[in-house]
Amino acid sequence: MSDPPSESVSPLPLVIAVDGPAAAGKGTLARRLAAALDLAHLDSGALYRAVGLAVLRAGGDPADEAAAVAAAASLDTGRLSDPALRAPETGDAASRVAAFPSVRAALLDFQRRFARNPPAGRRGAAIDGRDIGTVVVPDAPVKIFVTASPDERARRRFAELQAAGADVIYPAVLSELEARDGRDSSRAVAPLKPADDAAILDTSTLDAEAAFRAALDIVAQRAPGWRRLVQDVR
Ligand code: C5P
Repeated sequence: MSDPPSESVSPLPLVIAVDGPAAAGKGTLARRLAAALDLAHLDSGALYRAVGLAVLRAGGDPADEAAAVAAAASLDTGRLSDPALRAPETGDAASRVAAFPSVRAALLDFQRRFARNPPAGRRGAAIDGRDIGTVVVPDAPVKIFVTASPDERARRRFAELQAAGADVIYPAVLSELEARDGRDSSRAVAPLKPADDAAILDTSTLDAEAAFRAALDIVAQRAPGWRRLVQDVR
C-alpha cells in the first residue's frame, strides 16, 4: 500500500489577504510573505493611488466621480512604481476616489484575476488592501487584519517620509492618517473592517520581523497544506 499523500507535496493555491488601516505595515508584511512563500504580491492600494494621481495630474478633483471613474477605466496596471504614488496628497486623493462604487467596480476584476491566476505561474498571491478579505477574495484561505495604534502608525509613516527626504511634520501626518482611516471606515461600499474570519494582528509593539513571524504562524494554522513550507522558512 502506498503512503497517503503528504500535505506538503502539492500545496493548494494560496491567497493571503492582508487588510488594515493606513501605515499598519500591511505592505511590508504582504511583500515579505510573498517573497518567503514564493507567491505573487499585489499592493491594491497602489491601484487606488494611481487613479487618484491620474486625476490630480489631469487637473481634476478626486471628489468628481466622472473624472475618477474615467481614470480607473484607463488605468495602466503595469505602471505602479511612480514615486509620486507614495506622496501624502496622493494617499488623500486615493481615499476619495476609492469611495466611489464605480471606481471600485472598475478595479475589482483585475484584483480577482490576480488572485485566481497569479502572474508568473506563482502558486498563490499575497494581496494587501482594505477589502481583500471582505470583498475581493472573500474565500481566501488566509485573512490577516493588520493594525496598530494611530500614534504608532503615524510615527512609522512620519519616519518613512522623513527618510525619503519629504518635508513633513508629525501632527500633519497623524491628522492625514486619521482623516483617511475615517473616510475608509465610514464609506458605504467595501469599508475598512476585518472580515469575520480574519486573524487580527496588532503590530503596535511588534517590529517587522516579529510581525512576519506571527503572520507565518497564522498561515500555518489556516493553510495546513503550507505548514511544511512555513517551517522551512522559519
Ligand atoms: O494602502 P494605501 O494606503 O496605499 O491605500 C491608499 C488608499 O486606497 C486607502 O486610503 C483607501 O482609501 C484605498 N484603498 C481601498 N481599498 C483597497 C486598497 C486601498 O479603498 N483594497
